[in-house]
Formats: sequence, structure tokens, C-alpha cells
Amino acid sequence: MLAFYIFLLFCVGLIVWIATSNIRKRIKRQSIVEQPFPKEWRQILRKNLSFFYKMPTDLQLQLKDKMKIFLAEKQFVGHQEQPITDEVRVTIAVQACLLLLNRNTQYYPFLQTIAVYPAAFITNRAIQDGSGVHQRDSRVILGESWNRGKVILSWQDSASGGADFEDGHNLVIHEFAHQLDGESGTTNGAPPLAKGHDYKKWSQVLSSEFEKLRQQALNNEPTLIDKYGATNPAEFFAVSSEVFFERPKDLRLKHRELYQQLQQFYNVDPASW
Ligand SMILES: [Zn+2]
Repeated sequence: MLAFYIFLLFCVGLIVWIATSNIRKRIKRQSIVEQPFPKEWRQILRKNLSFFYKMPTDLQLQLKDKMKIFLAEKQFVGHQEQPITDEVRVTIAVQACLLLLNRNTQYYPFLQTIAVYPAAFITNRAIQDGSGVHQRDSRVILGESWNRGKVILSWQDSASGGADFEDGHNLVIHEFAHQLDGESGTTNGAPPLAKGHDYKKWSQVLSSEFEKLRQQALNNEPTLIDKYGATNPAEFFAVSSEVFFERPKDLRLKHRELYQQLQQFYNVDPASW
């Protein structure tokens, strides 16, 4: 009988522990936010990431708080002798957290690790072709976002993307947009939308813009959105997100409806910064 009561007590305790995990997380995050933003981190922002100071002051403050939580919760791992310094962590965090401003966010809930390589790296994986034959696929890439747990980045390209914030290309924004997309369970260009955001309109605008880009790519026409976005709807969303943050005025001028959808999704208006 005693064993039964001990078991019952254990079960109740476990249920209470699980039920309060969100509350505990909120309290922990609040205590992280209350810590001062380190002076060294501010110096890195000034030195390498001038876009930060072009943003409205309230968003700068919000971004700093989000960075504190992101950096406390995510693990950085260096590969090929890439050191993980404050410069690496802050430079990646500020760009990744840009996508979380003004949003009800769980800070990339599936992501645990950010793996950093010094520069572009080679992947060498086993793949299966259409007839079931296994082959090795070797390619050079700058970054990757995995559905569960990991983003991989070239440090060289993460740093240059943060330093030049007007060319419309940004590796960190690209890979973290894939993470947001994957929060629906599948990375397919249809991320979960906020309450009140019309799924039908989102799908209509993004599908038609994706189709337009595909046609322009086939005809070899010049485009504002990188033609890599014509690969599939997931890449289209990631590449459009890069342009949305880096060349917002051009995107609003040339792709007004797409800009409006991304503005509603990200809940910021970078064209006004
Ligand atoms: Zn991609």
C-alpha cells in the first residue's frame, strides 16, 4: 500500500513539474533579461553590425533582450578549429533574433545547436537515387538548417552578411527563416502564421510570386529576389526574408503584396527604419 502511495505521489509530482515547465521557463527568461547587456557585446555590435543602430530605439532594446535569451539557451560548437568567441556568438545572435522581434516566440524551440565552420564547407552524404542505388553526394555549402536541433553556418559568410546589410543576401537570416518555417512540422514555405493572419492570402501571394520568379529564372531575366528562391517554396520564403530585411524599400516597390505578407508575418516594417 505504501508503495502505491509513493508511486501516486511521484505521478502527481511529475504532472505538476510538466504543467509548470512553461512558467519556470518564463521566470528564468525574465531573470536573464534583467541582467545588463555586456559592454563587450555592445562593442561588437558597434564594430561589425552597424545595421543595429539604424533600427528604432525600442526595437534595439527588444533585440538586445532577445539576444540575451538566445545566447543563454543555444549551444555554439566550432568545427575545423573555428573558435567560438563572443564575436561569433553575438554576430550570429543579433541576425537570428532580428526574425523574432514583436513576435510571440519560443526562440526557435527545436533548435539546440549552432555549428560554426570557418568558411564554406563540404558535405559528403550517402543518398539514394530513383532506382534505389546508394551514392555519395559531395557539395560545397555556406549553411544548412536541420528540421530538428541544428543550424550550420560558415563564420566568414555570417560575418560578411552582418557587415553588409544592404546587398539583399544574408546567410543567417536565410537559415533561421528555415527554422521558423520548420515550426509547422515541415519546411515547405508555409510557416505557422500569427492569429488573424489570413493563410489563404499568404498562400496566394507567395505561390504567385514563387511562380513569377521561376518564370524569370527560366527566361534568365534580372530579379531582385535571388533566383535560388526559384528552387522550391521553402527556399523562396528564406530568400525573400533576406530581401525583406536587407532591401525592404526595393521589395516594397517591386513586390508590394509579398512585402505586406512578410511585414505581417515578421510584424516589423524595415522599410521605415
Ligand atoms: Zn535554404
